[in-house]
Amino acid sequence: MKVLKFGGTSVGSIKNIKSVKEIINDGDRKIVVLSAMSGTTNALVEISEQIKLGALDVAIQYIENLSAKYEIVIDELFECSETKQQVSNYIDNVFEHLRKLTAEKHTVFLYNKIVSQGELMSTFMFTKFLNQEGVNAQLLPALDFMRVDKSNEPDDFYIKQNLQRIIHENLPAEIYITQGFICLDAYGNIANLQRGGSDYTATIIGAVMEADEVQIWTDIDGMHNNDPRIVDNTHAISNLSFDEAAELAYFGAKILHPQTVMPAREANIPVRLKNTMDPASYGTLISENTDGEGIKAIAAKDNIIAIKIKSARMLLAHGFLKKVFEIFEKYETPIDMITTSEIAVSLTIDNDANLDSIVEELKKFSLVEVDNNQSIICLVGKEVVKHHETHRLFQVLQDLSVRMISYGGSNNNISLLVNTNDKVSALKHLNKYVFEFETV
Ligand code: ADP
Ligand code: ASP
Ligand code: MG
Repeated sequence: MKVLKFGGTSVGSIKNIKSVKEIINDGDRKIVVLSAMSGTTNALVEISEQIKLGALDVAIQYIENLSAKYEIVIDELFECSETKQQVSNYIDNVFEHLRKLTAEKHTVFLYNKIVSQGELMSTFMFTKFLNQEGVNAQLLPALDFMRVDKSNEPDDFYIKQNLQRIIHENLPAEIYITQGFICLDAYGNIANLQRGGSDYTATIIGAVMEADEVQIWTDIDGMHNNDPRIVDNTHAISNLSFDEAAELAYFGAKILHPQTVMPAREANIPVRLKNTMDPASYGTLISENTDGEGIKAIAAKDNIIAIKIKSARMLLAHGFLKKVFEIFEKYETPIDMITTSEIAVSLTIDNDANLDSIVEELKKFSLVEVDNNQSIICLVGKEVVKHHETHRLFQVLQDLSVRMISYGGSNNNISLLVNTNDKVSALKHLNKYVFEFETV
């Protein structure tokens, strides 16, 4: 059994919805995970934001605009008037529910309820569309089996048990459709796997179902060697190891949600990245194997905060780092990069929820400097730290303003911290010298 995930663009237009049907309708049994139609989740986030601001008229206007878009899609996608009516009723109910939610007090629970509606709509419409086209497809509601635990980690045991039970209870189908992104929390509230989380849903399902392969279908032909939104002349990478792909996803390659690779790596299930608009192109295969050495790809992650902790008296004293780490652990704030010197330790975090408390505690025994607006640029490849071409990177550094470097933390990764204002030029520069072999 395979698990195939289709992203927002793939289900974002009539033409693409029809392409998805062609791709999945090959006679093999499969689970298909869908995102919301492109633009929907952004609109839902905006609706929630306007409710938070108390601008209820604006929130209602967003709801009406979105509703009008869905009316057009339904009209074009469905031929038989009975199905059209059924789908219209479902979608109308969703929008009526959203209108009612504008009267509620804004909380994170309200936000979660609102943003979950996109996937509920796309999967209902798509299942009905497949049925109209004669495909034996069944909808499996993700909220009946997808759950995270108290630490926000997927509750694999619960997911496996319930998903298997639901598949068993349903009429046999060739294609099971389910929602990406949405889940329940440990207390039964609607929650989600963070923006872009449908990729993660797919590998979580793939792992618990012991799938042969997970396929992530999107609007580009695989993982590129640099961010194609910023740098020209990037190309798709055919093969990546789990470790390489995990580093790229974690450090900002938007094509994959940061956690996507983990369940697949643990269960050793290959993940294929494919282009819905060009199914014949090879894409990227992520597996335990890799090929080639040296820098294969570069990614960048924004909204990083650098914290420098200085203590003349205690730095080299036994227990200083322990004390520092304990504070980050207490506030459940992971550290991404870290470098040390004789008199200071610099580290980065991307979650500022408890920054003030962390700084306050650090200040009890050290001098603390905080720099916002930083980006981590991550260079990834097998044995990248040893490779004979890696010296090119160090030649480029003279032209970049780099705040921190992490080299040797793993053999697959070299990370640079730059001010976000310098990120675009740094990525372009690195691309030229590392991949296009221009000399400095
Ligand atoms: P989906 O809606 O299908 O999940 P996303 O927008 O989340 O799609 O991810 C695909 C996009 O990721 C591409 O259109 C591309 O602009 C962007 N992207 C950023 N970095 C990379 C990269 N290294 N390789 C490929 N795509 C990337
Ligand atoms: N629809 C959600 C989002 O836009 C999840 C996803 O697309 O993966 O973030
Ligand atoms: Mg995505």
